[in-house]
Amino acid sequence: MDFCREREVKRTKKPRKCFGCREKLPIESNCFYVTGVYEGNFRSHYLCKKCKSYLENNPEFAREGYQQGDIRDALLEDEEWRKERERFF
Ligand SMILES: [Zn+2]
Repeated sequence: MDFCREREVKRTKKPRKCFGCREKLPIESNCFYVTGVYEGNFRSHYLCKKCKSYLENNPEFAREGYQQGDIRDALLEDEEWRKERERFF
């Protein structure tokens, strides 16, 4: 993202969908609304708390830009990696 701004939404007035993991955000969800410019295009989307904290822990992920569902994939990869590690160590 070339430019990014976000604000916390305490309770959504409408059901939304998380851009990062494609999970449904039911009405009155606590989530984040992100607006930004990515490759010259204005974008805005909602993120659930799980995806938001992933981006906070992985700032390079946010910097490189991500597509819909990418955070879910990344979270699953992390999960698998952790399982692998537990098996070997
Ligand atoms: Zn999410």
